[in-house]
Amino acid sequence: MLDCIWNPWHGCKKYSEGCLNCYMYYLDKQRDKDGSKIYKVKTNFDLPLKKDKNGEYKIKSGTLVHVCMTSDFFLDEADEWREEVWNIIKKRNDLTFWLQTKRANVVKDKLPSDWGVGYNNVIMCFTAENQIRADERVPILLDLPFKRRVVMCAPMISEITLDKYLKSNKIEQVLVDGENYDGNRPLHYEWVEKLYNECKNNNVKFNFIGTGNYFVKDKKTYHIIKAYQGVMARRSHLQLPDENKNLKLQPKCLNCKRNNSCNGCTWCMKCVKKNNN
Ligand code: SF4
Repeated sequence: MLDCIWNPWHGCKKYSEGCLNCYMYYLDKQRDKDGSKIYKVKTNFDLPLKKDKNGEYKIKSGTLVHVCMTSDFFLDEADEWREEVWNIIKKRNDLTFWLQTKRANVVKDKLPSDWGVGYNNVIMCFTAENQIRADERVPILLDLPFKRRVVMCAPMISEITLDKYLKSNKIEQVLVDGENYDGNRPLHYEWVEKLYNECKNNNVKFNFIGTGNYFVKDKKTYHIIKAYQGVMARRSHLQLPDENKNLKLQPKCLNCKRNNSCNGCTWCMKCVKKNNN
């Protein structure tokens, strides 16, 4: 499945411990912007409905769309814009939308009126950075009507057990990442391994996305630059299923510079144009 990012709004309010070194704040600061300023991204607000000159949707059918990667989907400040986004999600039922939030306690009140047992094309991802937040948020994830549920422990800043939640058979995937950019809170190999084993025992997909800046294994701390974090995570083989056994570090896509390697997404259209020339 191809994937792309859709940010209908940008900016966020820090909410819990995981937000301390939020990468969006860091990247905004690099551009002399303030990450706490929340605004509608007018140019891309209806991105899934945008068409190319041939009248085809720019985002191709079957794409996994990560929504609000520079904000939180259930931010109060975005209430006035969310209904339109729900309508777009409904209209593009040939895409899968990944909605991510830390604000578990407000989700129920912000679902659309026709949500029912959940839209088929929505994956609901609750993030939890430590055990307290996992115990606050994951029970809500299990209680609310969603067709697909995932838990993302990122940035994982303490040991977390999800075993009792995984036994519900309602969580299809667990993801783990460390802290990046400005962050210096370490991720311990043993924490990742423990969650991996819990997922293995409960037959749940497990994705160790990245080590973060500081990764501790066998009492040694490794400082890992961003470009290597994903590769190192995959080389650990703490993946279920483990499909990346021979993964090698590749140069960035020369066209969009967005990915460590071109994933053939053609989302930026630069590759398509180049191939057509
Ligand atoms: S909820 Fe996410 S986007 Fe918002 S401040 Fe926290 S880490 Fe950043």
